[in-house]
Amino acid sequence: MRIGMVSEHASPLVALGDVDAGGQNLHVAELSTVLSRAGHDVTVYTRRDDPDLPEEVRTDAGYRVVHVPAGPPRPVPKDQLFPHMGDFARFIEQRWQAERPDVVHSHFWMSGLASVLAARSTGIPVVHTFHTLGMVKRRHQDGADTSPEERIAMERTVGKQADRIAATCSDEVFEQIRMGVPRSRISVVPCGVDVDRFTPNGEAAPKEHKHRLVAVGRLVPRKGFDTAISALRSIPDTELVIAGGPDEGRLGDDPEANRLLEHAERTGVADRVLLAGQVLRKDLPALLRSADAVVCTPWYEPFGMVPLEAMACGVPVVAAAVGGLTDTVVDGVTGVHVPAQRPDALATKLRGLLADPARRDAYGIAGCDRARSRYSWDRVGMDTVQVYERAGAVPAGAAAPAEEMAGEVL
Ligand code: UDP
Repeated sequence: MRIGMVSEHASPLVALGDVDAGGQNLHVAELSTVLSRAGHDVTVYTRRDDPDLPEEVRTDAGYRVVHVPAGPPRPVPKDQLFPHMGDFARFIEQRWQAERPDVVHSHFWMSGLASVLAARSTGIPVVHTFHTLGMVKRRHQDGADTSPEERIAMERTVGKQADRIAATCSDEVFEQIRMGVPRSRISVVPCGVDVDRFTPNGEAAPKEHKHRLVAVGRLVPRKGFDTAISALRSIPDTELVIAGGPDEGRLGDDPEANRLLEHAERTGVADRVLLAGQVLRKDLPALLRSADAVVCTPWYEPFGMVPLEAMACGVPVVAAAVGGLTDTVVDGVTGVHVPAQRPDALATKLRGLLADPARRDAYGIAGCDRARSRYSWDRVGMDTVQVYERAGAVPAGAAAPAEEMAGEVL
C-alpha cells in the first residue's frame, strides 16, 4: 500500500523532549518504520523548519520524509502554524496528483485540515489521528491555551470530513462523539512501544537514595511534574529524577525547569530532585529500570507513551487516572491510579508501593506482559492497516475490499 503520512509540525527525524517534540514525533517515526518493514511504501510530509534541510530524505528505516515549504524555514511554535496550512495543503495536493497515495494518515488537527483539503480533488481516503483535542486542552488550560481561536471548529470539520478517525484511547472516543463524529467512523488504535529497546533486562542507572522515582516528558506545566515534587515531601529516603526539556547544558534557560526547581526549593526537597534534561532514546531504558516506580501525573493525557515504556521495562507505574493512562495502566495489576493534581493522594499510594517490593515486582511483570502483547509496534501497525482498509484504501492494482464493516470499533 502507498501511504502518505502527514505530520505538519512533528517531524519523525527530530530528538524528543523539547516543548513541541514528543509523542507525535515518535508515533509517526515508529508507525512509518513498522509499516515500511511490512512492505508498505510510506512518505511522511512535514514542514521544512530549517533552510538546510534537503527537500527529501530517505531514512534507514525505509520511509521517505518530504520537507514541505510552508511558512518560514525556521522553527515556529506549532500554535502559530495555522496561517501556513493553505500552502502546506497546496504542496501536498500537487504531490499527490503526480504520485497518488492509496491512503493518507494525518496527525494533529492542522495536518488533518491540510489533508482533507488536499485529498478532496483526488478522492484519496483520509484516516485522521488527533493526538490531542483542542476542546480538552481548553478545558484544562483555559487562558494559558495558545491554540488559535479556530482550532475547535476546525477539529469538528476534520472529524466530519475524514473518512475514518483512528483514536488512540477509549477516552478520546467519548470526546469525539461529543464533537459530533459518528461512533461508527471511529476506531481505537493505541500508540505502541519499542519492545526490543524497552526490556526488563539490561543496565540500570545507579541511584543515590534508597528509592528512586522517575518521571519523563516534555517540560510543560500540564505534565504535572510539580505534583510529583510536592508529593516527595512526605516520601522519605526517595529521590525523583525528571527527564525532559532541553539538554542538561541548556536547562538553566528553560522557564519551566526553573519553575520546577524553585518549587522543589520551596517544598524543601531540592536535594532529592534531579532535572536530567533531555535523555536520549538509547539512555532511557537504563533510567527507567533504575526506578522503583515511574510516576506520570499529568493534568490530562491524550495517550502517554511513557507508562508503556516503563511497563515494557518491567517497572510499576503510578499514573493519574486521565485519558490514555486509564487504558494502558491497569489499576492494581500493572500499577496504581491516583487522582490528577493531588500530591497528598499520590504520596500515600507511593509510600505504600515503595514499602512493598513483592507488589512492585508483580506489577512490573504484569506490565511487561501487557506492553509486549498489546502494544508492540508490529501489532499497532497491523491494526492501523485494518483501519486504512476500512477507510477504503485499495492498493493500486488490487481488487476492492469486501463490504466495509460499518459500526465496528476496533
Ligand atoms: N522522551 C525522551 N526523552 C526525553 C523526554 C521525552 O525520549 O528527554 C520521549 C518519551 O520517552 C516518550 C515521548 O518522548 O516516548 C513523549 O511522549 P508522551 O506520549 O509521553 O508525551 P507527549 O510528548 O506526546 O505529550
